[in-house]
Amino acid sequence: MDQDGKVFRIGDYEIDIIVHGFPGKSVCHGSLGFSTIALISHKDRIALVDVGSFGQRSLLQEQLAERGLKPNDITDVLLTHSHYDHSVNWPLFRHARIAIGGAELDWSLQQPWGETVVPEFYMQELAKWPTLQKVGDGDEVFPGITAHMSPGHTPGSLVFVLDTGEGDMIFTGDACKNRAELLSRAADMTYDAAATQATIEGIWALWSARPGNILVPGHDLPMVLEDGVPRYLGTREAAIRAWYAEDLNQTTIISLLPDNEAVARSAAE
Ligand SMILES: [Zn+2]
Repeated sequence: MDQDGKVFRIGDYEIDIIVHGFPGKSVCHGSLGFSTIALISHKDRIALVDVGSFGQRSLLQEQLAERGLKPNDITDVLLTHSHYDHSVNWPLFRHARIAIGGAELDWSLQQPWGETVVPEFYMQELAKWPTLQKVGDGDEVFPGITAHMSPGHTPGSLVFVLDTGEGDMIFTGDACKNRAELLSRAADMTYDAAATQATIEGIWALWSARPGNILVPGHDLPMVLEDGVPRYLGTREAAIRAWYAEDLNQTTIISLLPDNEAVARSAAE
């Protein structure tokens, strides 16, 4: 594993978390949509687990280019759920096989226009797309990756479990967005608290099944379990750049790190 908690080489797999999701929302401006995007390379296939929001579109393209990859090199897109901050860039990878929960897609198509964070028209188009794969509970969606039906955040959310042969990597999407939800067994956005609790208990069971298993939430850093306690892997990076001055070239960077992480960072520097 690299020190940033981003690149993991396990067995025949390289897992590169190209964007660490952020566990928060803005106070005055609605949702941020800073979600996790992960790249999984295995033999001649390359998958993305979630593809981010519009705001992450150029970031995603830059991150792929930095790795010498073009969108057409992606062979598989695995969507944890249909919300815009995880799904809306699928057209960039329209040549890939695009997997989403069948129940999720059906539910998404029934959502009233303009009222939810489901990107209505992107889901309508996806439903007709020739490379769409509608996934059910227990389906293998990529070599070594099994989908687990995980309702609560949305009815058809999927958790993807990658069995590398040397431990599992568990991509929870927003079935469990961050460490606070993991520890609370409750969620900030849920249509059914009991379903969310059962899903998060199921995630704990998958995670604790083998020592060293890595959990990758939809809006937080990856974590491992140590003596039953989650420990973050890597370093959180989160900041906003603002034009508060009168000069276009002068910007102010505002850290979004919690105090303890900012203190630890400056002590290490
Ligand atoms: Zn999300």
